[in-house]
Amino acid sequence: MDLGKLSRRQFLGASGIVTLGLLAGCGAEETLLPAATIEPAEFNADSALQLLKDGNARFVTNRTIDPNQDPNRRSTTAKGQKPFATIVGCVDSRVGPEVVFDRGIGDLLVVRTAGHVIDAVEIGSIEFGVAELGTPLVLVLGHQKCGAVNATIESIESNTPAPDQIVSIVEHIRPAFDAVTATDNEPADLLDAVVRENTKLTVAALKAAPLLVELEAAGKVRIIGGYYSLDSGIVEFF
Ligand SMILES: [Zn+2]
Repeated sequence: MDLGKLSRRQFLGASGIVTLGLLAGCGAEETLLPAATIEPAEFNADSALQLLKDGNARFVTNRTIDPNQDPNRRSTTAKGQKPFATIVGCVDSRVGPEVVFDRGIGDLLVVRTAGHVIDAVEIGSIEFGVAELGTPLVLVLGHQKCGAVNATIESIESNTPAPDQIVSIVEHIRPAFDAVTATDNEPADLLDAVVRENTKLTVAALKAAPLLVELEAAGKVRIIGGYYSLDSGIVEFF
């Protein structure tokens, strides 16, 4: 237990109800330990986005509280889950959603592929999160120096096919490269421009999935994009 983190519980006040968890089974010296659980009464796209922003701000400023990672939360969520957001991110080992948003068990439904490319299976998984678990926010999270996007650029520019199934990732990212290079204005940072375009295209693809179209029209979900900086840890939302 990080006692330093317990003193920072005032962070929790603004965004939700703070609950105290009794850590039982410690014999005579049973200790009341804060469970650092954050639960807004009702989730919607705005409150879900605010939770992500709050968590990322804690992460960026080294004031993480590691919420919802205790045995109490584990046993509560074993009975049922209600994640407040779906994160569609890259497999990159430096961009773990629970870490960069300072969240814990049962908070985020996460779908990760290289370059956050999506196909039928991924779209179905995202639809499951929204339709069955009721996540009101879907965030597609691209990131700085994405290796999958970089491999795509290298493959296209060198006219060398990527090996085996990696080629399918390249083909999913290719439209972003094509869109960025279609104009006469070559961006100063091609990789970064393609990363951002790739995120926009994934958002657009999700917004065109029939079930998500229906749920978005009914106000049940908002689908947005984001960009994670490896250098600063900051997530920009757009
Ligand atoms: Zn990546």
